[in-house]
Amino acid sequence: MRRIHCVHALLSATLLLTVSCSSKDPSDLSGAASDELMRGKRKAVVQTDARIRYVPMPEPAAPLDVLLTVEGETWAQPILRDIGGDMRRFIEKMSRGKVNLNVATGEFQSGGPVTPTNKILRFIPGAGSHVPIIGNSATARHELGHEFSFNHSHTRLWDTQTTIKQESNRDPFDPMNNSPLKPSFNAPHLHYVGWFGSTEEAYAEPGREYILSVLNDDRSDSESLKSIYYEVPGTQVRRLWFSYVTLRDRENGWQAPDGMPETAVVVHEASGARVQAGQTYMEGLVGLEPKTNVRSGLILHLSEATPDTVKVRITMDPRWRLELDNEPEEPNE
Ligand SMILES: [Zn+2]
Repeated sequence: MRRIHCVHALLSATLLLTVSCSSKDPSDLSGAASDELMRGKRKAVVQTDARIRYVPMPEPAAPLDVLLTVEGETWAQPILRDIGGDMRRFIEKMSRGKVNLNVATGEFQSGGPVTPTNKILRFIPGAGSHVPIIGNSATARHELGHEFSFNHSHTRLWDTQTTIKQESNRDPFDPMNNSPLKPSFNAPHLHYVGWFGSTEEAYAEPGREYILSVLNDDRSDSESLKSIYYEVPGTQVRRLWFSYVTLRDRENGWQAPDGMPETAVVVHEASGARVQAGQTYMEGLVGLEPKTNVRSGLILHLSEATPDTVKVRITMDPRWRLELDNEPEEPNE
């Protein structure tokens, strides 16, 4: 697995994460969190094509209670509380309320007791290069992503179906890389962890028309469609996601395609049979000009693009043929 150095040792703080089924901590601030989330709530966008099939998502009977302990020196307690509050809002929004993140701050206890239900970050599975030092919310989003089983995200641009022309260890639309402050996890991560709402992810099917809402803005909405998902027939590992994203920050040089209102449809792919083993890849932007997606043969026809939504009609390139040479595989760690 590729390692990314994740140390932002500004505060000498550690995060302790405990998952439990206990009742909620009476001192948590879920009421305040709900108020904040409501302020930015988006009206659900209704699909016009009734034939759309949605990807099944788990709907737990009750949210998973997770305890996040943010530890640091006494002088840093107010900053740690800010970090904890930011993490609570972020995870509750990302999980669509399927996770309650209860935050406590405490004195720094490096090397403190480790029990099966009380682990500190340096022991997180599959992330041996990480140290239990978290300095700001940006890094905390990344490390918390690992705690929720996410692997790293990258960029991978294809020349042909089986040859890569450009790679980097960044994804402008996901915190799980080396520039980690992002407003949302990418679609593959939300898919694998099951955090999408029941009408937020649909199967890509030629002939269907979809209305995608922006995935990575700062509003709260767990109903409107956010991503179109495609498993390339005849492959074991080629899975793609098409999501509508805002590029307001013009991060990493990515520009909105001509004619798009500072937005684009972003292509993601993931490898590995399990989320624990899967790396995710940003594979370019789609604009108004229809082009064949080299990895899947799908053509996305975009219309009525606004800063909030875009209409996507999907067809299949009849000339496209599957090639499997050099298919990248992920080790099942
Ligand atoms: Zn990492």
